[in-house]
Amino acid sequence: MTEDRRITVVDTTLRDGEQTAGVVFANYEKVRIAKLLDELGVHQIEAGIPVMGGDEQKAITEICKLGLKASIMGWNRPVIKDIETSIACGCDAVAISISTSDIHIKYKLQASRDWVIEQMTKAVEFAKKEGLYVSVNAEDASRSDHDFLVRFALAAKEAGADRLRYCDTVGILDPFSTYEKVRAIIDQVGIEVEMHTHNDFGMATANALAGVKAGANYVGVTVLGLGERAGNAALEEVVMALKYIFNYDLHFKTEIFRDIAEYVSRASGRELPAWKAIVGSNMFAHESGIHADGMLKHPHTYEAFSPEEVGLQRQMVIGKHSGTAAVRAKFAEYGIHLTRHQAQELLPVVRATAVSLKRSLFDKELVYIYEDYFGKRH
Ligand code: MN
Repeated sequence: MTEDRRITVVDTTLRDGEQTAGVVFANYEKVRIAKLLDELGVHQIEAGIPVMGGDEQKAITEICKLGLKASIMGWNRPVIKDIETSIACGCDAVAISISTSDIHIKYKLQASRDWVIEQMTKAVEFAKKEGLYVSVNAEDASRSDHDFLVRFALAAKEAGADRLRYCDTVGILDPFSTYEKVRAIIDQVGIEVEMHTHNDFGMATANALAGVKAGANYVGVTVLGLGERAGNAALEEVVMALKYIFNYDLHFKTEIFRDIAEYVSRASGRELPAWKAIVGSNMFAHESGIHADGMLKHPHTYEAFSPEEVGLQRQMVIGKHSGTAAVRAKFAEYGIHLTRHQAQELLPVVRATAVSLKRSLFDKELVYIYEDYFGKRH
């Protein structure tokens, strides 16, 4: 993908992320997360839902006052009072959200398609008159009738909306259908599109990227993919995939990815799994003999990018799957230079210990094994 495309990253950790069942951020945590996202380079931060009032409104106001480089967006229903509250908080941008699928219109809104367009149009016209940047969110867009979605998007454009947020609200898209649907909207409406994808089938990041490939210039994400149900597209995955798979460098300060992930993990009370893509502690841990041997010869044999780029460190893990090359390299770190023969002698003990403990070995345990084994013989 060429760099003349201008991709805008919209982080909604503080809105969709906090909507995760059971997650509540303290106000100071919301402020801290906004600062970290801004430091990283995120272009727009969806900070929350101003009309909720109380602490939510206070936190959003405080974030708006920080003077960050990022645009600060408030989430709104197509209701004038919601938008007025976003303005009162100091937001420069608003997301105006309404469902476009028949199942939502019929059962949730208990209204008609015409009513949906009317509400949206009125709200967008008001927000534009107030000088705000406007994203029109088509909730449940992926399950909406295509012709109606086109009509809705044309009406949004006509009313002055700056972009359409294409929401795969229940996460039912795959990258192939995403590409086709988003491409059709862009071709038929000629409006900027933001991808907002959910991970119910584990494809949130893939679908977000497919949308970008189809021409969406905005991509909505959350730290660690935090979000309703199975979550959203993960910020760190989208940024690194754009760089290494699409060859599109956002020039973000990616070295702080691990720090941001740890902070959001603690603040949300959600674990940060070792196997999490991009920022998990296992991303650069190597144990199996063949991999470790390759790694020692050249790190890129088994790594897509370097650990420092995301604030992690490479780890050589010694355990059941280790080979002699890794054992020798590990002992060399302690200043013990084993011959190949000594390493071969030690390896079965290392492996047996790992099996009996059902885990890899700590550095100290390795030294004890060495002392026991060679101490006995001399
Ligand atoms: Mn969502």
